[in-house]
Amino acid sequence: MLEPLVSLWDRIVHKTSKNTVKDDISNKIPNEFEEDEKISSEEERLRRFPKKVGIVFAEKEHLEKILNFDQRACAHLLLQTNSVQKIFEFQIITHEYSDVYFSVPPKDDENGRFFQWFDDEINKFEKSSDGVTYGIDYWIAITSVPLGYYRFVRSQKRDNGESDRVFWVMTTDVWEQKHTPPSLFEYITITAIMCSINFISNDFGGSLFFHKRLKTKGCIFDFTVMKEHRRIMVSNPYVCTVCKERISRLEKSIVLKTGSRLDLSSEIETLLSRKWMGNVATVDSPIYNLKRNYGYDVDRNSGFYKKPWEKFRDSVIERSAEWTIGGIIATALSVFGAYLILVFHLRAP
Ligand SMILES: [Zn+2]
Repeated sequence: MLEPLVSLWDRIVHKTSKNTVKDDISNKIPNEFEEDEKISSEEERLRRFPKKVGIVFAEKEHLEKILNFDQRACAHLLLQTNSVQKIFEFQIITHEYSDVYFSVPPKDDENGRFFQWFDDEINKFEKSSDGVTYGIDYWIAITSVPLGYYRFVRSQKRDNGESDRVFWVMTTDVWEQKHTPPSLFEYITITAIMCSINFISNDFGGSLFFHKRLKTKGCIFDFTVMKEHRRIMVSNPYVCTVCKERISRLEKSIVLKTGSRLDLSSEIETLLSRKWMGNVATVDSPIYNLKRNYGYDVDRNSGFYKKPWEKFRDSVIERSAEWTIGGIIATALSVFGAYLILVFHLRAP
């Protein structure tokens, strides 16, 4: 006869009456952290979805601000993408107070030193025991330093690293205030989605790369030599017919290689629809909470750190309703007071 399985409940309830159950429950300290992830091969990593996209904001803010925007507000919008699709799991790799991982990033990319820094740091991290546990598939660095040739974003093949994967670096340096709206946060989020689609394209032999330099279609894979054109793809992100076909082929390739039922086209469509972002008027939508929690109204604010006059303007706008009501009451009281004085004077001897 088979021994019945002993549940945790059984072990706790019967431990006093059965000598066979070890007294190991009450003394057990619960784990604070999840178990280490065990991936035995690169093939297993490739099969796994969602892909973990590690986002690194390149500054140690408590030492020196290098970024020209609030990384917390940016992270808020970027991480909302995780709840609307199953291809990518974006995660911020926090290194603010870590001396072990990610040294202080360089403040320029002269002689490719920013790329070298990021390559070195993610290589070090991936080889560490923590890095193995995290199992990041793809890496994106976000900086405000110029990347050369006025590029918004650049990819780099890790020739010097052990991995032959690609990483992306994007900068807010060339997203000027005149390009807003859409806000900097929307620009970063849509760009991160574009980079991530390119990552899986690289992994599965796809062909989703930038279009030739001189054309703009409004597609997320436009190169946008003319900086103002970038607003088009951030405001209304779109996938052109060529890229649609490429996504469709990529989906077939992934299904064939991994056996996973992945509806890549529809997941990407959901991400790019921007419906998930909501708006400032829709309570609890990501854009609404961006304003409520961090004070950025994407219809009004660029997303860069606010200048003093912008803070003042926003304060006036936010309080104008109170001021208006207060003003009406104050005016009414003044008129009433004047009336009383007038009456008093008229009746005074
Ligand atoms: Zn395209």
